[in-house]
Amino acid sequence: MKVSIDEDKCIGCGTCSAMAGDFFKLENGKAKVIRQPTNAQEEEMIKNAVNFCPTGAIIISKEG
Ligand code: SF4
Repeated sequence: MKVSIDEDKCIGCGTCSAMAGDFFKLENGKAKVIRQPTNAQEEEMIKNAVNFCPTGAIIISKEG
């Protein structure tokens, strides 16, 4: 699983970095992916953040 951010949709609310700070951080008012998940537990954390992102800016793809 590969995670990325749609910066056009991200409003910089900080929810993802608060929920999963190992994977997301805010930079210049936008979320950045700082690490990809490497196991199922980490993928669950990412999916959780996806569910709480207010704008649907966190993108999960199967590749990678
Ligand atoms: S939760 Fe969504 S809108 Fe908020 S900072 Fe993260 S990616 Fe951006």
